[in-house]
Amino acid sequence: MFVGHYSVAFAAKSEKNKIPLWVLFVAVQFLDYIWATLVLLGIEKLRVIKGFTAGSMLDSYFHPYSHSLITAILWSSVAAIAYKPLCRWLGFAYTKSAALIVGVAVFSHWVFDLIAHPRDLPIYDNTLKVGFGLWNYRDPEFALEIALLAIGIILYVARNVLSAPCKTAVIAFGAVLVVVQIGDTYVPRTPLSDKATAMGVWIFYTLFVIVAFFLEKARSRKKIDPL
Ligand SMILES: [Zn+2]
Repeated sequence: MFVGHYSVAFAAKSEKNKIPLWVLFVAVQFLDYIWATLVLLGIEKLRVIKGFTAGSMLDSYFHPYSHSLITAILWSSVAAIAYKPLCRWLGFAYTKSAALIVGVAVFSHWVFDLIAHPRDLPIYDNTLKVGFGLWNYRDPEFALEIALLAIGIILYVARNVLSAPCKTAVIAFGAVLVVVQIGDTYVPRTPLSDKATAMGVWIFYTLFVIVAFFLEKARSRKKIDPL
C-alpha cells in the first residue's frame, strides 16, 4: 500500500479535531518512516526484486520492529501519547480526542499494509507472518489505492471549510498522488538498492508532508483574511 495510506490522513482531519494535515501525513506513514530509517541503519532487511509481486518489488523479509502487529500497536500508542506534548511544544490547538485519532491513524498503516502485503507482516518478533497479498493482483490493488484516496479527499473537502482555490489545490494534490501511484505500479524500472529505496521513501513521504503543510497554511491564511 502506498498512496492509499493518505486516505486516512485526509479523512481524519476535521474542523473539530484541528489536527494539522501534515501531522496526519506523518502519522499514516509513521511505521514506514521507522522502517526506512531501520533499513538505512541496516537493522531491518529489504530486498528489491523485479516482479517480486505484480504490484511491488519490495521483499521486506525482516521488519519486526516497524511492521509487526505488536510494535505497530506500540508505535501507535507512542504517537498518541506524544501528540499532546507536541501540540504544546509547537503551539497547536489540542482537542480532546485528537491523541486517539493520531494513534488510530498510525495504526491504520498496519491494517492497510495487511491488505496489500504478501505474508511478510509478523504478529510479533519475526514470526507468525500475515498478509492478504493484494499486491499479487496489480490492477485491483491499484484500484483500491485510488478508491481509498478518492474517498479520503471527498471526506476532507466535505468536513473542512475550504475556499474554492484551496479545494482545487487539494484535488490537484490528489491527482499528483494518483500519478505517483501510476508510476510506482505500472512504470517498469530497474530495482534500486535497499538503502536507495529507503532513502526514496524518506524523500517522497517528506515531500508529501511539506505539500500538506502548505495546503493548510494557505487555508488558514484565507480564514484570517477573507479577502
Ligand atoms: Zn508499511
